[in-house]
Amino acid sequence: MRAAFLEQPNTIQLRDIDIPEPAAGEVRVKLRKVGVCGSDVHLFLGHRPLTNPLVIGHEGLGEIDAVGKGISSERVGERVVVEPNIPCSTCTFCFSGRGTICPHKRTIGLTEAGCFAEYVVLPADFAWSIPAEVSDADAVTIEPTAAGVHALSISSAKPKDAIAVIGLGAIGLLLAHVALSLGYKVYVTEINDGKLRLAESMGAVSVASEKLKAVWADADVVSIFECAGAVTTVNMALENAPRGSEVILLGLSSGKATFQPLQVVREGIRILPSLIYDHPQDFKRTLELIVTNTIKPGRFISKYLPLSELQHALELASEGTEPKIVINI
Ligand SMILES: [Zn+2]
Ligand SMILES: [Zn+2]
Repeated sequence: MRAAFLEQPNTIQLRDIDIPEPAAGEVRVKLRKVGVCGSDVHLFLGHRPLTNPLVIGHEGLGEIDAVGKGISSERVGERVVVEPNIPCSTCTFCFSGRGTICPHKRTIGLTEAGCFAEYVVLPADFAWSIPAEVSDADAVTIEPTAAGVHALSISSAKPKDAIAVIGLGAIGLLLAHVALSLGYKVYVTEINDGKLRLAESMGAVSVASEKLKAVWADADVVSIFECAGAVTTVNMALENAPRGSEVILLGLSSGKATFQPLQVVREGIRILPSLIYDHPQDFKRTLELIVTNTIKPGRFISKYLPLSELQHALELASEGTEPKIVINI
């Protein structure tokens, strides 16, 4: 099969390799469409070094074409979406319902072969059957949407409350879309004009960074979602957080943020981490929101490119102007 390897930072190479065989409890998926994620871009740019060449990509959509021992052959032919983070399900974190921080977590496209290839294998429970009425576009964007659904679910904000989103990459846009669809008031801050206009067209209110303190306080913002993943935006969220609010960190910045304990303690600002999504409820909930026509995450796909142009797709994604690029396998 054809598989696109990240050989070294900034270098994708297509290679012909053997088609993987599903082990016991696994299914094999013949991939059709795979989303390009911000984390793929970070790997591509070398922000998170890999020791060996790896097939990256984890937002896979395709059909099951083979099953391993113990899995019903009736699943062959099912259209499925890949849930790529696989917690061990036996450690103390997994036992206490915190599988997202499982230290033994396997991740397709990071700790093992990913989806920018013709086939991928994964545990059967992590291949989500997609009902026929769901479009390919909505299906292939379930994974990043689930990250937004998860963040919203751990926040103390409820529909009709005001929330703020900093950074309108795919996760920020999808989170804003989900929140608006569920009736939250959403204030967005972003440097790219096109993405701001897109969020405004859905009903979000844009706020310039120098006006955050006043606007957020006036609007009684309950939760601030930091989706930009930069130190400056983390600081911005904390400095401007209204009294009693919470700052939820989704962005993965390796730099050091600063905050003033006096302000955080006195004003009761809570800081919460939101890493990916919990298995299985967040994918389940995301799929329900799509099936009930509450959300349409596929609307943010701005470009489709073939697997042979993955290098170009990752370069383009790194510029930060395309809301979502999807690769046709
Ligand atoms: Zn992703
Ligand atoms: Zn675990």
